[in-house]
Amino acid sequence: MGEILRGIGAVSGIGIAKAMVLSNDLTGHLAKYNAGTPDIESGKIEEAIKAASAELAHLKKAAKEAGQESQADIMDAHYAMVNDPGLIANMHGKIEQETAAPQAALAAAEEFASLFDSMPDPYLKERAADVRDVGRRLARLLLGTGHIDYGAEPIVLCAEEIEPSVAASMPEGQVFGIILGQGSITSHTVIIAKARGIPVVAGLGNALSSITDGTTLIVDGSAGQVLVEPTAEQVAEYQRKADAEAVERRLDSELAALAAVTLDGSKIQLAANVGSPSDMPMAVRQGAEGVGLFRSEFLFLGREVPPSEEEQFTAYKAVVEQCGRHLCVIRTMDIGGDKPLHYLNIQKEENPFLGWRAIRISLERPDLFITQLKAILRAGSFGKVAIMLPMIISATEITAARKCVEQAAAELAREGKTFASNVPVGIMVETPAAAVMAQQLAVECDFFSIGTNDLVQYTLAVDRGNPAVSSLYSHFHPAVLKLIENVIKAGHEYGIWVGMCGEMAGDPLAAPLLSAMGIDELSMSAPSIPRVKGVIRKLKNGQAREMLNQALIMKDAKAIRSLMAEYISRQ
Ligand code: PEP
Ligand code: MG
Repeated sequence: MGEILRGIGAVSGIGIAKAMVLSNDLTGHLAKYNAGTPDIESGKIEEAIKAASAELAHLKKAAKEAGQESQADIMDAHYAMVNDPGLIANMHGKIEQETAAPQAALAAAEEFASLFDSMPDPYLKERAADVRDVGRRLARLLLGTGHIDYGAEPIVLCAEEIEPSVAASMPEGQVFGIILGQGSITSHTVIIAKARGIPVVAGLGNALSSITDGTTLIVDGSAGQVLVEPTAEQVAEYQRKADAEAVERRLDSELAALAAVTLDGSKIQLAANVGSPSDMPMAVRQGAEGVGLFRSEFLFLGREVPPSEEEQFTAYKAVVEQCGRHLCVIRTMDIGGDKPLHYLNIQKEENPFLGWRAIRISLERPDLFITQLKAILRAGSFGKVAIMLPMIISATEITAARKCVEQAAAELAREGKTFASNVPVGIMVETPAAAVMAQQLAVECDFFSIGTNDLVQYTLAVDRGNPAVSSLYSHFHPAVLKLIENVIKAGHEYGIWVGMCGEMAGDPLAAPLLSAMGIDELSMSAPSIPRVKGVIRKLKNGQAREMLNQALIMKDAKAIRSLMAEYISRQ
C-alpha cells in the first residue's frame, strides 16, 4: 500500500500517471548571466518584451482554436501586463540603476505583484501570481531557459508552483494531474487546469520533496490527496471512480446555461465580481448575469497619476457592453485601507481600515470623484449601469454623493457628451452603522449590496487580513447573520433590491441561509458561480427557512457552519 499525501483539492477529478518534477528555480541561471551596459540591457528588455508578446499572442490563438476560452483570456491578460507602460518604465528605471535585465524584469514585476498581494479578494490576490509570471517569462527569455521537455508519456506534473505561462503551454492530453507544494484554489494555473479538466491537489508543502521523476501517482482532486506508488487494486478502484466523475462533470458544465432558481421557483440573480474588462469573458462563460461589483479602484492602482475620464470610460464601457442586457454595478473607488495610493498622499495611519478611505476620500476630492462619475455616466449609455458607494456610514454621505452625480451629469451636458440619465445609486452595506441604520438609508438609495468582507471585520472587531485572528473571522457568526437579515428586510420594506458582493456570496454553504432571508442577488468571483447555482437549484424554500431558523438561535459561527455543511451534504 502506497503513501498518501494530503493537500487541498483545487480541481476535482482523478488522474493516474507517472510523476514529472518541474523546478522553477532561476538562481543558477541568474548567477551565470553576464550583464552589459545599461543601454545594452535596455535593448535586451525591449527584445524580450517583443518575444514574450509574440509567445503570448501565439498561445492565445492556439487556446482559442482549441476552444479553451479561459486560457485564451489569461494569455490576453498577460499580454496586456507585459506591455504595461508602468511596468516597462519601472524595468528601464532599474536598468539605469545598473541592474541586469533579467533581475530588473523580476524586481519590477515583484513590485507590481505586491500591490495585488494586498488585495482582500482571494481571486484578485491571485493576480499577483500572473504579474510574477510575466516577470519570469521575460527573465527566462533573457536567460535562454524557456523550453520544457515533457517527453511523450502521460504525466502528473509536480512542482512547488507552476506559473500560468507554463500551464498554458502544457501539451494537450498528456498531463493527467497536477500536484503543487504551494498554490491556492484560485490561481490562474488552477483555472487553466480546471478548464482542461486536469485534477489538481495544491498545498502539499514539503511532502512534495519525496516525489521523483517516474513515481506512479494517483491524484484525487476531489479528496485533496495523492497516492504515491499505489497498488494494482487501488489503481483499478480509482479508475472506476474516474469514469463515474467524468459523467458528473459533463452535467456540471450544463449548469452555466441554467438559471439559479430553487425547486419552488424562487430566483436569485448570480452576478460576477470583476476588477477589469479582462475578467469578463470568464464571468460570461460561468453564466454570470451581469456584474454585481466592479472594483474600479484597480484602475487607480500601480500608476503615477490617476486615470483620466477617457481611460476610465473605456474600461467601464468595455465591461458594461459585455454585460449585455444585464446590470453592471460599478463601485466608486475604494482607495485607502488595504489599498493605499501614493499619489493621493495618504498619511500613514494608525488604523487604515478605520481611516481615510473610500467614500471619505471621494467626497473630499471632488476633482477625482466627479471625473469618475462622468466616466460611469457616459458608459451607462452603452448598457445598464449603476453606481455603488463604498463604506457608507450615514445618509449625509449618500446625499452628498448624489449631488456629485448631478454635477457630473450637468458638466457632461455642458460638454455635449452622451451619457445615461437616471442611473441608480446604491450603497455597499459593509459597516455595522449602515447595517443597523438600513431602514433610514434605504430611503436614500436605489439598492443595497452587502459587503461581508468588511462587515464581518468591523462587526467582530477581527482584522480580515490578520492570520493570528483568522479563526475568529466568519460570516456565519450569528451577529453577522442578524445584521444581514435586518438589511434585507429593510431594503424590501422600502422597495429596493438587496444583493451581496462580499466573499459570503460565493460560499455554497451560505446560499440556503441567504435565500431564506430573501436575498435578490449574489455577486461573486466567477469560478464560484456554478457551485452556488448547484446548491440553489436543489433548494426547497421551506427547508432553507428551517435551516435559517435553526441557525439564528445557535450561539456560534462554527456550529452554524457545521449545520450548513451537513445540510448541503444531504442535499
Ligand atoms: C466587502 O467589503 O465585502 C467588499 C466586497 O469590498 P472589498 O472586499 O473590496 O473591501
Ligand atoms: Mg469592502
